[in-house]
Amino acid sequence: MPESTPSAPPLSAPQKGLRKLGLLRPIDLALHLPLRYEDETRVVRLVDVRDGDLAQIEGVVSACEVVQRGQRQLLVTLDDGSDTCTLRFFSFYPSQQKALAVGKRVRARGEIRGGFLGRQMMHPTIKAADGPLPKGLTPIYPTVAGLPQAYLRRVVQGALGQAELADTVAPEHLAGIGLQPAWTLRQTLLFLHNPAPDVALATLEDHSHPAWQRLKAEELLAQQLSQLQARRARADLRAPVLKTSPLQAKGDPPLPERLLAALPFALTAAQRRVSEEIARDLALAAPMHRLLQGDVGSGKTVVAALAGAICIDAGWQCALMAPTEILAEQHFRKLIGWLEPLGVKTAWLTGSQKAKERRAMLALIASGEAALVVGTHAIIQDRVEFRNLALAIVDEQHRFGVAQRLALRSKLNEGRQEPHLLMMTATPIPRTLAMSYYADLDVSTIDQLPPGRTPVVTRVVSDARRDEVIERIRAQIVQGRQAYWVCPLIEESEALDLVNATQTHAQLSAALPSVMIGLLHSRMPVAEKKAVMALFANGQMGVLVSTTVIEVGVDVANASLMVIEHAERFGLSQLHQLRGRVGRGAAASACVLLFSTGDGPRLGEAARERLKAMVQTHDGFEIARRDLEIRGPGEFLGARQSGAALLRFADLAADSALLAWARRLAPLLLDRHPLQAQQHITRWLGGKLEYLKA
Ligand code: ADP
Ligand code: MG
Repeated sequence: MPESTPSAPPLSAPQKGLRKLGLLRPIDLALHLPLRYEDETRVVRLVDVRDGDLAQIEGVVSACEVVQRGQRQLLVTLDDGSDTCTLRFFSFYPSQQKALAVGKRVRARGEIRGGFLGRQMMHPTIKAADGPLPKGLTPIYPTVAGLPQAYLRRVVQGALGQAELADTVAPEHLAGIGLQPAWTLRQTLLFLHNPAPDVALATLEDHSHPAWQRLKAEELLAQQLSQLQARRARADLRAPVLKTSPLQAKGDPPLPERLLAALPFALTAAQRRVSEEIARDLALAAPMHRLLQGDVGSGKTVVAALAGAICIDAGWQCALMAPTEILAEQHFRKLIGWLEPLGVKTAWLTGSQKAKERRAMLALIASGEAALVVGTHAIIQDRVEFRNLALAIVDEQHRFGVAQRLALRSKLNEGRQEPHLLMMTATPIPRTLAMSYYADLDVSTIDQLPPGRTPVVTRVVSDARRDEVIERIRAQIVQGRQAYWVCPLIEESEALDLVNATQTHAQLSAALPSVMIGLLHSRMPVAEKKAVMALFANGQMGVLVSTTVIEVGVDVANASLMVIEHAERFGLSQLHQLRGRVGRGAAASACVLLFSTGDGPRLGEAARERLKAMVQTHDGFEIARRDLEIRGPGEFLGARQSGAALLRFADLAADSALLAWARRLAPLLLDRHPLQAQQHITRWLGGKLEYLKA
């Protein structure tokens, strides 16, 4: 008989709520801070209240009835001796009705409205008036369904007594940013959970109060410390030293030099600079973790190829991983075109490969015969064994999670060595984010486009003028150009986007009968996708209608028009990426952002901001900065947030001075007070890390 493991008692709803919020340790609760506060310390007399006041009143219920006046509602009359007030509830539980029975003495808190039928409060908060008034402000915590404020308040208060709250930052370090060294962390937290009623509430709510400054500084410090620690831990790891040697077997120049000589163009100054940064890292015996960022079309692929050439020249294998098969294939073709003539053997690995082909590729990779491996996630699967992988390049890194990066790193198991990692992104990371969330990486930036590009003219056009847009496509085709038409991916329903794209495809086919019009959607088999892409890439297909915004890296220089339907539904970075598909050749290119207001009279605020930003700027960094402003870091970071706990309190834009302080202090603390540093990291991030593993 298998032994049955005793199962833990089921969690109560509030316990589940705590777990959902990641509030496991006393310190997690102590650091779970109020969103705002309510002042329940005073009761006012009804005769003294003015219309519109937010007030707490106390009195005896003199009437309580459920009436049907258009809508079912509970009407309660409260008499405080000075006057009466009607409390009105449109939704209520029997328990509430009971608590408000005639004769009960209660406190009601809400906005007083003086109507023609007398004073009233809509949906006030009700408490039994059975104890003294609270002495401090009442904290309101962020919570989830099933976890009531009262329960949360109780456990937080309890945790404040249990949590280890000794200061980890010495007073002299706090003085540097004008923080009150007289306040300990314990006092800071006690204050924020139970502020005195005379505090200026606004300074608590906008987090400008010194106690909040102190806390945000600590939070940023924890982030900097953990990233610095990760960076130092990496410096202790070994990686193959990748250098080109001038002594080649056949007396040829080194591979990178031959690649450069064979390219049909010269590198831009920015490409040269970042290539040198990468080459310097590769020549070190510790693994590189470098992020290569550059706007769409800035030419990251050739920089990746050069890094690969250094690696291969030194006798090691290089892998390039892309998030989709189409992107991977595009890289594959480009790299083969560049490197195979120079004698580099390449392998190709994807999920949709036939078993036989795949086996052949795996053999090439395992034997080391293939020096360059290009593919999708298939590359990091367990069965894929490299002979000697020394450099892993990840395109569009934000589409890959931490787990996948770790898997790549584990592909070299020789004597505690790890491969070098080069991550590429076309979504530039704003400076503040780079300094905080990405502080564990080195960043190289291509801040210049190859010469000869003409800027893309961007227009925002109402969907009502669709016909004019179709005419524009016709004009482009007559000139021998091609166009993209992108339909939005509707996440709740793949079927719906298909309908949308299919309709657009039919409409365009009818309007432009002599033009080949293709359709690419997310659920098509890969082989079909590839066939469609091939027709578009070789110029036979005039228009490509697509829902797969995924394939952002496609490179068809002859395409000069990008139409984005329902542009209001796309994120700013996505729009920018899509626009980057055109304007790759010398021809004048355009991007049309079609919008539809749906049933409403006008677009929402955020959507309008996004479209406006697209017209105003082409600069990927500016776009990224605005995107961060509109969306906040949570969404911006995407997959990365699963690995790095998000900042809860600090605001990168508002708190840049605190961030700078934390950056300065982190190395000092790690060097001189390693124990406190560790304690600080565990305090702030420990619970979250364990929680993520669970
Ligand atoms: P991205 O950074 O978006 O990945 P790509 O690497 O796809 O950009 O490059 C965009 C296009 O520009 C490609 O066709 C590429 O061959 C070309 N290109 C890259 N570098 C240069 C350069 N220095 N001069 C001219 N064209 C270049
Ligand atoms: Mg690219």
